Amino acid sequence: MQDSYQHQGQRRQLVKVLREKGIRNERVLEAIGRVPRHFFLEKAFADWAYQDKPFPIGCEQTISQPYTVAFQSTLLEVNKRDKVLEIGTGSGYQAAVLALLGGRVFTIERHRPLHLKAKKMLQLLGLKGVRCYHRDGYKGLPEMAPFHRIIVTAGAPEVPQALKEQLTIGGMLVIPVGDKDQRMLRIIRRGKTEWETEDHGDFRFVPFLPGTA
Ligand code: SAH
Repeated sequence: MQDSYQHQGQRRQLVKVLREKGIRNERVLEAIGRVPRHFFLEKAFADWAYQDKPFPIGCEQTISQPYTVAFQSTLLEVNKRDKVLEIGTGSGYQAAVLALLGGRVFTIERHRPLHLKAKKMLQLLGLKGVRCYHRDGYKGLPEMAPFHRIIVTAGAPEVPQALKEQLTIGGMLVIPVGDKDQRMLRIIRRGKTEWETEDHGDFRFVPFLPGTA
């Protein structure tokens, strides 16, 4: 696997496209400009890796569209050294972006083959700070809680209470909620039993499913 000049050029082009679509956060754009997305795709799709599209990654799952990754990453407002929990590792691409934003990333996936593959790729890229778990994300990661930031990358029918409880006070959860289409919600924990919800528009994700596969 190599990161050629051609890939780097395509990546700059992708950043330009995301900028045109309204992504303005320079740190997020820089992170996307640095992660070799083609490493996270099957060979057959590598030539299209820098199009702003989702692609199949096996186990009937998809790597999110770069615009969605950029949008969620922007909403998440990751600060350096923040403890960040991601539910839905998938390919590991979003986890890599979060790590480059300075987060200490914990990521959970319910499909073992995807979990193993993502873990290997993140290690290969030298992102050793990312810790991967094969678990049911509905329950979060209680032994490592609380988290400053939690991001869910699958469409959830409802907001799991466990995730809200695993936020720090002032912490944020970014989660697409809904059955067929989802609304992108940002939930900010304001107190021990107080959460504030913002709605950031329509998206469509693969479903958030209970249990491990
Ligand atoms: N962040 C990923 C996107 C993957 S798609 C990327 O950058 O590639 C969403 C992923 O969420 C899928 O891999 C799916 O298997 C996983 N998922 C769905 N429900 C889950 C659950 N309850 N716990 C953990 N992972 C889950």
